[in-house]
Amino acid sequence: MSSEDSKKVVFDAEEASLLVKDLRESFGSGRTRSYEWRVSQVKALLKLLVDNEQKIIDALSSDLARPPFETVVYEIGMFKNSCEVTLKGLKQWMKPEKVKTSITTFPSSAEIVPEPLGVVLVISAWNYPFLLSLDPVIGAIAAGNAVVLKPSEIAPASSALLAKLLGEYMDNSCIRVVEGAVDETSALLQQKWDKIFYTGNGRVGRIVMTAAAKHLTPVVLELGGKSPVVVDSDVNLEVAARRIISGKWGCNNGQACISPDYVITTKDFAPKLVDALKTELEKFYGKNPLESEDLSRIVNSNHFGRLTKLLDDDKVSGKIVYGGEKDESKLRIAPTLLLDVPRDSLIMSDEIFGPLLPIITVNKVEESIDLINSGTKPLAAYLFTTNKKLTEQFVTNVSSGGLLVNDTVLHLVVHTLPFGGVGESGMGGYHGKFSFDAFSHKKAVLYRSFIGDGAIRYPPYTDTKLRV
Ligand code: NAD
Repeated sequence: MSSEDSKKVVFDAEEASLLVKDLRESFGSGRTRSYEWRVSQVKALLKLLVDNEQKIIDALSSDLARPPFETVVYEIGMFKNSCEVTLKGLKQWMKPEKVKTSITTFPSSAEIVPEPLGVVLVISAWNYPFLLSLDPVIGAIAAGNAVVLKPSEIAPASSALLAKLLGEYMDNSCIRVVEGAVDETSALLQQKWDKIFYTGNGRVGRIVMTAAAKHLTPVVLELGGKSPVVVDSDVNLEVAARRIISGKWGCNNGQACISPDYVITTKDFAPKLVDALKTELEKFYGKNPLESEDLSRIVNSNHFGRLTKLLDDDKVSGKIVYGGEKDESKLRIAPTLLLDVPRDSLIMSDEIFGPLLPIITVNKVEESIDLINSGTKPLAAYLFTTNKKLTEQFVTNVSSGGLLVNDTVLHLVVHTLPFGGVGESGMGGYHGKFSFDAFSHKKAVLYRSFIGDGAIRYPPYTDTKLRV
């Protein structure tokens, strides 16, 4: 062990336990409960963001070579919006909701009182490291909890910046960041939390849920999956192609949870769709997309190797109809289209999470519904069509976390829609008020007085009472 290693501060289960104890004391003091504290912390998050826009852009440039435009729109812009929505709605969200009571309890009144859960843990992923960390944190704060954030080690510049900025701007008696990888996360997961909010892949989702079960801790799991795009023939093809490209390569070069994973279209229509995608891709990223500054790189060599393997699979040899170029030294893979890949190929077995887009063909577009339903439930499903009947069938029969007709990805920005998965793509939702709800307990409260105390409920339980 080098002297550097021996100087490293170890964050183990003991440290984690002390951290949780500290936060429990702060939570127990009632500090996080007031409207004023919650607002002050959301405003602090907003200020953190406004003051440090360039640093955030730079961190993502270092972690992913992400084009600044994407960081400004999908990371900074969306988070600013979350802060504003929360500041606008919070007073109302915190109010108890009066509800009707039953004749059995007459006279009485009742309300649902949202209360904070306590001390919560947010574990986030690398692909949108600021949004995926701070959007759950804002929900935790708005709901009046103390919170620990564990950002992803796979985006180290972003993780370090998050730790630094939250340390500087936030109330650290109640809001803390723990950086680290598997060891640190495992130490955190051994503790008793009042909620765990995890974003990442399903394998680790299972680890999180198992750890949570030990303490009966509820979880939100924001996972992924193979999100399909169905393209019917009666569409504005140019617009459809642009919107597919924007959701696929315009979001982290395919490394996004709701990125289109594969396309389903009819045999007859596929050549037209491929042509339209090629034309628009070239307009967006030029003849040499490996050099384009408008595309992120692959996050690291592990993921680069994983994606390369999908292309090297014998079952997809000869199926590339556009792209396929890669540059390992720069961790870059060009936007790649594959046509008519076999359904048992590697690329169709797991979420791709990268710039490869396979196209599956069917005889009739309606077949896409059974095809999607034969796999695990995706995080998002997309349909391009002007056919109302097909739209209705799709909305009714396709089960997915979210569903979007005639566009991709943008349901994410609508804060009045819950964002989350179903089945293997996750459980629980957030965004806007749903984030507040995710970190609140809805306490049922019934108020009675001493009048109206009918004898019927009390023993002796006579036959007469039974017949009333
Ligand atoms: P990742 O590698 O950053 O892992 C996520 C978190 O899990 C990290 O904080 C990491 O430290 C922790 N972790 C990793 N291994 C662990 C272990 N053995 N024990 C405990 N903790 C561990 O991210 P990832 O999993 O590569 O993220 C990509 C996946 O996440 C994709 O499937 C994607 O679809 C999904 N995702 C979902 C959403 C969503 O909102 N639903 C958003 C982004 C990504």
